[in-house]
Amino acid sequence: MDAMKVVTLQAGEVVPRLGQGTWNMGEDPRRRAEEVAALQLGLDLGMTLVDTAEMYASGGAEAIVAEAMAGRRQEVFIVSKVLPTNATRRGVQKACEASLERLRTEVIDLYLLHWRGAVPLSETIEAFEELKSAGKIRHWGVSNFDTDDMEELLRLPAGAAVQTNQVLYNLTRRGIDYDLLPWSNRRRIPVMAYSPVEQGRLGNERRLEAMARRLGATAAQVALAWLLRQDGVIAIPKASRPQHVRDNRAALDLELTAEDLAELDRAFPPPRGKRPLEMI
Ligand code: NAP
Repeated sequence: MDAMKVVTLQAGEVVPRLGQGTWNMGEDPRRRAEEVAALQLGLDLGMTLVDTAEMYASGGAEAIVAEAMAGRRQEVFIVSKVLPTNATRRGVQKACEASLERLRTEVIDLYLLHWRGAVPLSETIEAFEELKSAGKIRHWGVSNFDTDDMEELLRLPAGAAVQTNQVLYNLTRRGIDYDLLPWSNRRRIPVMAYSPVEQGRLGNERRLEAMARRLGATAAQVALAWLLRQDGVIAIPKASRPQHVRDNRAALDLELTAEDLAELDRAFPPPRGKRPLEMI
């Protein structure tokens, strides 16, 4: 794979820089075929990292992923997540088994704690390590962790095995540029940017119009290219329309010059101080 198009996880494994999200998929049976086809098109185009969660459509999104990757499991790098309410030792075990069943697979490639809840982190991490030993997950990570949560995690005995932190990050949500992103880069922990086109809103962002027109791209593609140019950042846009899937893939080849980046900084100023991590 082209080095510009991949990110290396802590464990040394190479994954695509551009993946696919699945939130809101599996909610409406009438949209099922369209959603499966969109994910398959994305796989065909190399967007083989697929992000899902037990929470999405109460398991329905994992079932869509299973259908999309039928007969081609080995091409896909599956990311799924456990809810914080299931994050006890026993709860993680059960939740993982249920996800595996819905995903119709033997192993989840990367299993994340969806956000921090009341269960002590050490207990959840031990459960993750047990799942790893049992061959049910290959790697684990976290989501919606701010810098102080990450520091606490790294102080735990197995904390250094964390492979990623999935957080809200896009041109209109630049808080992590101040501390979490440089902190993660220094430790070579990739950040997985969720809602990379701000749930579609960046597709209609007037501040991106002129640049998009000049580059012969869409506003959403400029927003994605801004994320994808950065080392150590993975982006997981969700798209159920084939045109969106194609546009997202094409954003990987869209090059932004230093001048373009400066213009984007003027339109979407980087943070000047610490901001608490935002969540959607
Ligand atoms: P998103 O990917 O920023 O936006 C999805 C929306 O944008 C959809 O309505 C989609 O439309 C539209 N879209 C996609 N590509 C587009 C393009 N090229 N041009 C114009 N519109 C486009 O938002 P998201 O779904 O919230 O985030 C992505 C994924 O991150 C989720 O699906 C989920 O897997 C993950 N996530 C994780 C967390 C967490 O707490 N860890 C939270 C939120 C999201 P169509 O579907 O109609 O094509």
